[in-house]
Amino acid sequence: MAESASSTTTARQGQMFPTLTPADIERLRRFGEPRSFAEGDRVIKAGEVAPGLIVILSGEVEITQGAGRDQRAVIVTHAAGQFVGELAQLSSRPALVDGVALSPVEGLVIRSDRLRDLMVQEAELGERIMRALILRRVGLLESGASGPIIIGRSDDADVLRLQGFLTRNGQPHRALDADSDPCAKTLIERFHIDPHHLPIVLCPNGQLLRNPDENALARCLGLVRPIDATKLYDAAIIGAGPAGLAAAVYAASEGLSVIVLDCRAFGGQAGASARIENYLGFPTGISGLALMARAYNQAQKFGAEMVIPDQAHDLSDRAGENGGGFVLRVGTDETVQARAVVVASGARYRRLDVPNLAQFEGSAVHYWASPIEARLCGGQEVALVGAGNSAGQAAVYLASHVGKVWLLARGGSLEATMSHYLVERIRAQPNIAVLTGTEIVALEGHEGTLTTVRWRNRATGEESAHPIRHVFLFIGADPNTDWLAQSDIGLDAKGFVRTGPDCGEGRHGLETTRAGVFAIGDVRSGSVKRVAAAVGEGAQVVAALHAYLARTGASVITPATIGRP
Ligand SMILES: Cc1cc2nc3c(=O)[nH]c(=O)nc-3n(C[C@H](O)[C@H](O)[C@H](O)COP(=O)(O)OP(=O)(O)OC[C@H]3O[C@@H](n4cnc5c(N)ncnc54)[C@H](O)[C@@H]3O)c2cc1C
Repeated sequence: MAESASSTTTARQGQMFPTLTPADIERLRRFGEPRSFAEGDRVIKAGEVAPGLIVILSGEVEITQGAGRDQRAVIVTHAAGQFVGELAQLSSRPALVDGVALSPVEGLVIRSDRLRDLMVQEAELGERIMRALILRRVGLLESGASGPIIIGRSDDADVLRLQGFLTRNGQPHRALDADSDPCAKTLIERFHIDPHHLPIVLCPNGQLLRNPDENALARCLGLVRPIDATKLYDAAIIGAGPAGLAAAVYAASEGLSVIVLDCRAFGGQAGASARIENYLGFPTGISGLALMARAYNQAQKFGAEMVIPDQAHDLSDRAGENGGGFVLRVGTDETVQARAVVVASGARYRRLDVPNLAQFEGSAVHYWASPIEARLCGGQEVALVGAGNSAGQAAVYLASHVGKVWLLARGGSLEATMSHYLVERIRAQPNIAVLTGTEIVALEGHEGTLTTVRWRNRATGEESAHPIRHVFLFIGADPNTDWLAQSDIGLDAKGFVRTGPDCGEGRHGLETTRAGVFAIGDVRSGSVKRVAAAVGEGAQVVAALHAYLARTGASVITPATIGRP
């Protein structure tokens, strides 16, 4: 078997695989149940939900990853005092690795709900365990040897879509290029796959999916589970961007039962930011995905239930039921019942007004600038459209990976719409060319392959053609409120959700025209479109939720508890 060591594994071995003291284990006992494993037993199996976090009291468990017996790589061998587990065990998701008892093992199994209790009740010990679980996930992401295997052409729009989905959701995976990777060729032959039916995805549970949509892939991986339609949550939060995640963390940590839905991935627009430099407390900046992954894990630690990806379609009253509340129609045929609803559905990117845009989206026209796109465009010239901070960040990020960035803006200068620090950074970057007063007028190519981009100087009318294969669009966003069309929620002229005293008598500042329905973050009319503002509103809305639930007699938590640290 091959040895596998990610850079995180090597650098932070002690934190990743800590050995608990006998005193630590005594404190853990009340959360777990004893269990014995015989030599050779599968303690955990990739693709299957593990019984929980397993603290080893005696014996040894070998943890391996990878597909096929000859490709298995040993990650670590756990001995007495160590524990088997990874982030998946925090929320009863299927394991990503295999664990086999190398000798008879006596263990303490801590189920995921008890693990969350432990994290809250045993702060210092919980912190050590949580850090280990997070580092282990980072290690799996870095090693790229566990999780599903995507097989297809590396520049295929569906391969990029699936890779993007898994990356944005913090899921380890591998992508094998069907044209050049010998393993990919072997698998294609073994499963008799017609090249026209690529990409395929091999899931850890052995299932083979042909070009699945994100929801089908997530269900196969066990990321989405059926929603309990009979359960009445205190709050349903629509959107897992910074606003929704902040609301989930504060609401769940204060004892409310919370369900969070997102139709794409956790992190929202912030998850697409290459580097956030203006969020308080991160002087060196942090990638949006890293910041949002922390919030996502934090919300799960406090017991918020995550349903990603699944879309909320509409919102109506829980007619005829005692205690009022709301019903959300979700996905194809599911429902969520909640006493209160928090709309945190943010905004979605605007599209360019050229007729054949759709045929290049995904393969050549991108709305994110992540390492996946940077790799795809390595050394090439790219065009990037936009003049806001998101465009500036993406231009600076891409400039260190591509040959040249043409930054195109319709307006006369970047200064009016972009932060000063970004304008300065762009000026200092020799391979970014800024063309103001310029707009794209045509995209040329065929079958998803872009060959030429035409742009026009708006003042002179002069047009020019450029051999560019990738275009990035950062041209603003519209509110995600289509799903509220039938819900009788008041919107402003631009489609953002109205909130505040004007919406009805006694309304909280974040409450909409329907009592008990709140709106926070970018989707809210008049909000400041920033991560910090979204997070602030997420925290603030929890006080409003408590007050509403207490007012409607639905909560044992009274307004007196609001403001407690
Ligand atoms: C590339 C980029 C870079 C940025 N950089 C910065 C920065 O450096 N600093 C800064 O302060 N701000 C930055 N911003 C702005 C910041 O990201 C947003 O203000 C912030 O993300 C808004 O958070 P939100 O939670 O309100 O909404 P969003 O982040 O838009 O999240 C909304 C979520 O709701 C989900 N959703 C929508 N409709 C539904 C539905 N019907 N059902 C289920 N889910 C749904 C979406 O999938 C999404 O995940 C950047 C934005 C972008 C695009």
